[in-house]
Amino acid sequence: MTTTERRVAFVTGASRGIGRSIAQRLAKDGRHVVLVSRSAGPLSDLASQIKDAGGSASFKAVDVGDSAALAKAVEEVAAEQGRLDILVNNAGITKDGLVLRMSDEDWNAVIQTNLTSAFVAIRAAAREMMRKKFGRIVNIGSTSGVVGNAGQANYAAAKAGLIGLTKTIARELGGKGVTCNLIAPGFIETDMTANLSQDIKEGVLKMMAVKRLGAGEDIAAAVSYMTSDEAGFLTGQVLCVDGGLTMC
Ligand code: NDP
Repeated sequence: MTTTERRVAFVTGASRGIGRSIAQRLAKDGRHVVLVSRSAGPLSDLASQIKDAGGSASFKAVDVGDSAALAKAVEEVAAEQGRLDILVNNAGITKDGLVLRMSDEDWNAVIQTNLTSAFVAIRAAAREMMRKKFGRIVNIGSTSGVVGNAGQANYAAAKAGLIGLTKTIARELGGKGVTCNLIAPGFIETDMTANLSQDIKEGVLKMMAVKRLGAGEDIAAAVSYMTSDEAGFLTGQVLCVDGGLTMC
């Protein structure tokens, strides 16, 4: 494939953390990467960095919790680029609390941002992928969605919902050359985990087979394979990239 025929990847939550690492990795893999999150500034800076390094990137500032805006952004990219090959649903938030104290507002916000957005983006991208008979969809879940986590009823439910969504999309679109898989990260050092206490971090480390916390690049490496042309026989899978924390 020539550079004028680069595969186009739409990556949500690309401004920082895991999404930023995924975007940088896919750019290195030769993709045109469309960077998506709420704030234009960091996306613009990252797009410039990727281009300075010889890659190809553009950005769209979108709140993935706004379903109409998200669907419009996906459709615009497909129209502007003439293709949309790869979708990585990575944007996510936490609003933790024990179930007795969890408000409807915190429940709904996490379900909307972490689960509904993935459904909306997939629905918007699927037509173009099916038309081209090629697509690679990766949803970023969490080990909390596989084994549960006290204090995260909303988050674990959203991430478990992503697993059902992933397997269903895999079954619906597999015959059209579109795969859909989920990566469940364990503990990755980003803004999301920065405020957790040293005690919690040490407790997690004790349970891990690999005695270090994860980095965004650990997740990006798995996304790179799942979105490659050669991964066409891999679909409906849940891959826990967690340093042996759960071995789920
Ligand atoms: P960060 O908090 O570091 O980054 C979150 C990213 O999502 C940012 O780019 C943020 O951009 C974006 N984002 C958040 N809300 C929205 C929104 N409404 N619309 C658009 N973009 C949004 O998180 P991580 O990198 O740690 O997490 C990335 C994913 O990995 C999440 O889905 C998370 O649940 C999952 N994960 C993380 C783990 C960890 O240990 N870090 C473990 C397991 C799963 P901006 O604020 O600029 O909009």
